[in-house]
Amino acid sequence: MKTDLTDKALHSEFRQKVEALSGQNLSDCYQCGKCSGGCPVEPFVEVSPTRLIRMVQLGMEEEALNSDSVWHCAGCGTCNGRCPMGIDIVRVKDALRKLTKKIHYKRGSLEAWTFYEAFLDCVRNFGRLTEIGLMGGYNINSGWLMTNVKKAPWYLMRNKLGVSPHTIKRVDRLQRVFKRIEEIEGQ
Ligand code: SF4
Ligand code: SF4
Repeated sequence: MKTDLTDKALHSEFRQKVEALSGQNLSDCYQCGKCSGGCPVEPFVEVSPTRLIRMVQLGMEEEALNSDSVWHCAGCGTCNGRCPMGIDIVRVKDALRKLTKKIHYKRGSLEAWTFYEAFLDCVRNFGRLTEIGLMGGYNINSGWLMTNVKKAPWYLMRNKLGVSPHTIKRVDRLQRVFKRIEEIEGQ
């Protein structure tokens, strides 16, 4: 992969956006690799957390947003705990996911995004994850209305698919948390 080390690449608009959204100064990263060394997902992705940070440093927008590493993350925070510079890599990934959502680069990212949105919508509306809410939300968000529909009878027969979602008590409190997070993120 050809790397652009020009001043323009190092101070790209993309890098500035990620730094602003994540609140992290990526110049602090000196590529020690400790984040990748402890990452449980690293063996299964093409782009390690270390490489992902480097891509952002270099303004490699398309490569970073298309990387499987953006979505394949357990959010465990091990990378954060290992970083000697105190960089919050999880927040950097959150920022990249946000940008991926806006840009919809390729279908692979879009699939992950629609699932992520359906998951959050379900928790926001009912206070918990429900199979029917997740499946319905995913099918509607993605536009693939019949995805997994054939599997529904099998799950229904085995009582593994609740038809009506159960809402937790005082779901309004949780919805206030979502609202507050959205306000903070929008600032
Ligand atoms: S938060 Fe994500 S990137 Fe960091 S160690 Fe866990 S799985 Fe890896
Ligand atoms: S651990 Fe921190 S300094 Fe080291 S490569 Fe990862 S982000 Fe950069």
